[in-house]
Amino acid sequence: MATDTLSPPPTASPAIALVDVVKDFGGAEAGARDAAAVRGVDLSIGEGEFFSLLGPSGCGKTTTLRMIAGFEEPTGGQILLHGRDMVGVPANKRDINMVFQSYALFPHLSVADNVAFGLRRKRVPKEEIRDRVEKILGTVELTDKADRRPRQLSGGQQQRVALARALVNRPRALLLDEPLGALDLKLRQSMQLELKRIQREVGITFVYVTHDQAEALTMSDRIAVMNHGRVEQVAPPQEVYERPATAFVAGFIGTSNLIGGRLTSVEAGTGVLDLGDGQRVTVPLRGSHTAGAVVELTVRPEKITLTSGSADTASRIRGTVREVVYLGTSTSYTVVTGAGAEMTVFQPNDGTASVTPARGDAVWLSWATDHSYLLTTAPAPAATAAGAASPTLR
Ligand code: ATP
Repeated sequence: MATDTLSPPPTASPAIALVDVVKDFGGAEAGARDAAAVRGVDLSIGEGEFFSLLGPSGCGKTTTLRMIAGFEEPTGGQILLHGRDMVGVPANKRDINMVFQSYALFPHLSVADNVAFGLRRKRVPKEEIRDRVEKILGTVELTDKADRRPRQLSGGQQQRVALARALVNRPRALLLDEPLGALDLKLRQSMQLELKRIQREVGITFVYVTHDQAEALTMSDRIAVMNHGRVEQVAPPQEVYERPATAFVAGFIGTSNLIGGRLTSVEAGTGVLDLGDGQRVTVPLRGSHTAGAVVELTVRPEKITLTSGSADTASRIRGTVREVVYLGTSTSYTVVTGAGAEMTVFQPNDGTASVTPARGDAVWLSWATDHSYLLTTAPAPAATAAGAASPTLR
């Protein structure tokens, strides 16, 4: 896992801590971590943080969340809630609640009764129940729907009832597993902002599972990007996007150009990357690197400027436009470099573009050196084999 040196967790005593957590469902040989669903996850989630687990299907997000909830026992490692080891502590004794994609509301009960259900079972005094239900329905903006049945509500409203039902118990942390997955895109986007507002208002730690990168970027204080049962990076949204730690993170979050090359010189803070086709670019060095190392550089399509002549920057590459796609707010150019590799460039359609090339035109691609970032992992063997000269689009 990439060390998160730039972004320490916000509090010293984490609300939730995972220490080398492993979950092997038993299909693999004992001790074979590489086949486990969760393969040694370390996380430290701060009190009041909106923390997302992001990754593709099957990467172990839900399993991780279910272990925090107490629905699954880890086969290795430790889970601590507010410093207390949770081994053997059942889910209903963990002071956390979970919200799922399926709301599972009682159809025959009103909104208010659905929300009050858990408190009644706990025999909380009637007046307190009334006050708490009223307050939480206000928070999720459903006060005027208190007497309705679930079927009389929209999907987004039903999900807010499910959220109110979990929050009314005043858990110390709320775990959410793709809670907006069943909603259409517009509703999903407005609910993302709603959820963030509600979380800020109640001040409870939220751990949110999603495979939707836009959703994680919109809502989270920090994101853990998972791949094959491991965490590849933990950082705030901007850092995950601007400074992806690995090729996987660069490719999973947004569109990214990956440029393979060999470092020919290394000086304080900068290096020169030889692309193998006679072209060289200057790269910022933020870690320790040695001359001769084969590395990958990532640069986002919107950070690149197209010009007809060579730009006055140390980070530039020549190429020929292969494809032009008009996208409304921007135009996407696919440019093939001298080495035959493809790069994507987004230029805003706001009149600031210095050239608007057509297919077949020769162009220069340039970017501020600071807008590129050297990945910490070595490129896959296939990317290095061709003379380390293959920018690839992920
Ligand atoms: P999705 O976004 O599709 O829900 P996920 O990232 O949440 O995926 P998990 O549900 O945690 O992934 O699953 C991780 C791996 O563990 C998968 O390969 C899955 O098949 C496996 N797995 C999950 N639950 C079990 C189980 N009860 N028994 C055996 N294997 C399981």
